Amino acid sequence: MKDSFGVFFVCYDRVMIEEHKNAVKIIQTQVRDYYSRKVPFRVYHGSTNATRVMSFKRSEMVDVSNLDKVLHVDTKRQVALVEPNVPMDMLLDTTLKYGLMPPVVTEFPGITVGGAIQGGAIEAGSFKWGVFSNTINEVEMILGDGSIIKASPTSNQDLFFGAAGSYGSLGLITSAEVRLIPAKKYVTITHLPVASFQDGLDKTLKYTKSSCDFIECGMFSKDRGTVVIGNLSDTVEGKLMRFSRARDPWYYLYVENNARLKKTVTDTVPLRDYIFRFDRGAFWAAQLAFTQSGLPFNWLTRFILDRFLRTRKLYQAVQESAAAQRYICQDIVLPTRTLVPFLDFIDKEFNMYPTGFCAVKADTKSPLLFNGIEDTDYVFNVGVYGLRIEPYEKFVAANRQIEAETTKLGGRKWFYAHSYYTEKEFWNIYNKHWYGKLRNKYHATTLPDIYSRTRVNDKYRVHTKGAAIKTLLGKANYASKSSCDSVHDGPTR
Ligand SMILES: Cc1cc2nc3c(=O)[nH]c(=O)nc-3n(C[C@H](O)[C@H](O)[C@H](O)COP(=O)(O)OP(=O)(O)OC[C@H]3O[C@@H](n4cnc5c(N)ncnc54)[C@H](O)[C@@H]3O)c2cc1C
Repeated sequence: MKDSFGVFFVCYDRVMIEEHKNAVKIIQTQVRDYYSRKVPFRVYHGSTNATRVMSFKRSEMVDVSNLDKVLHVDTKRQVALVEPNVPMDMLLDTTLKYGLMPPVVTEFPGITVGGAIQGGAIEAGSFKWGVFSNTINEVEMILGDGSIIKASPTSNQDLFFGAAGSYGSLGLITSAEVRLIPAKKYVTITHLPVASFQDGLDKTLKYTKSSCDFIECGMFSKDRGTVVIGNLSDTVEGKLMRFSRARDPWYYLYVENNARLKKTVTDTVPLRDYIFRFDRGAFWAAQLAFTQSGLPFNWLTRFILDRFLRTRKLYQAVQESAAAQRYICQDIVLPTRTLVPFLDFIDKEFNMYPTGFCAVKADTKSPLLFNGIEDTDYVFNVGVYGLRIEPYEKFVAANRQIEAETTKLGGRKWFYAHSYYTEKEFWNIYNKHWYGKLRNKYHATTLPDIYSRTRVNDKYRVHTKGAAIKTLLGKANYASKSSCDSVHDGPTR
């Protein structure tokens, strides 16, 4: 019986891989056509976790949204071969069936494998494992001329490391081999109160040397916060807390409550609830929707609206409404030595709370990635989300101010968010010569470059009410393929 199951799975995987090869051939043909006509194209995959307004022209895009399958899980080698549009929750759920899990699974379940490699992705375990692309053994890519190539740390490694964080400007990822580790049923979390940014940094650095699996710090004011350390476990310690059902508390409110107690607390969370703990409320960003609409923010309203307050739906509303043009939403990465000065700057200039940070293992092999910062064992990712700033010109000025301070402190930013760097500023941070040579070598010069893909040039009309209704009715543009040709009634100059 067991053998026939084994045989069935081998056949099933073979069929999947054949289907994959055929799907890739179709995309190759499209890319070759674009290449022959020198048409720059963009990668569409049916969703996004970017806050920049994404709009596509059908005549200048390649749709990889159907490359959404886990092709094979090898329990001996502890790896999974997956297509790029596999979202994190599907990747985790599939590998857990084999008692395994990816070392880095992002908090937002809708982030895809391709987007996580190309856009960068981290989790509270990144102090140990680095960014998501540091857990990849090999990628299969279609280059700008339509040819196919495999890249890994040992073959075509310049492309393998160069493509991480390149926002699709060096080619299309069509599959990736993800490393896996043994999974456990729970995560035991301990809340350690902190009384300053420095205290949060010191406690985080102290635990990076311990055997724990997860570390992150939430600050609720300049002098009140908590470092939460987590350990994979098969036993329950303290209260068993859940964060995935409509009646459960939002995770950040639970952490804030413990920070208020100012005492060490240990609880246990089922693994999946812990991994996607920030899905409900998108960290704390969704609280803005209550402030914006005037709806009371309490357990009952969160319970009733729960389905719409999870990141997949929230992103549809963000893309539909273009409301991200009013709210500061940035992830900034800094070397250890300038984390506290940056937090002081945000406190003084914007007084924005909550704010959160976590350590990420530095790795300079991928020059475009935010953890590619020199002379530091760890970089620190800081999430600053939430302050509403209007009019648009003031919003841009505030983002520019954050960009200037980030550069001054030797930091980098994520490009899922709004970016207003001038071309000169951008290439002062990233190596244009190296990038240009790589694009030439791998036939990527017809693809839009990373600067043009990530720099925000257009202003869009913000329409929150209409967008909220369309999202509630499942008619938001990113809810279907209609986000092509293009979403918004064009930028307003
Ligand atoms: C409030 C907030 C908090 C966040 N917090 C986190 C966090 O804690 N951890 C984290 O990891 N991320 C976080 N993110 C960001 C998110 O991870 C990144 O935006 C990530 O890149 C999104 O992946 P995606 O699958 O939605 O891809 P997209 O954002 O749609 O794509 C990213 C880039 O990759 C390109 N791309 C996608 N698929 C392919 C492919 N197959 N081949 C070539 N190019 C491709 C796209 O064209 C795009 O340029 C946060 C975002 C927000 C707004």
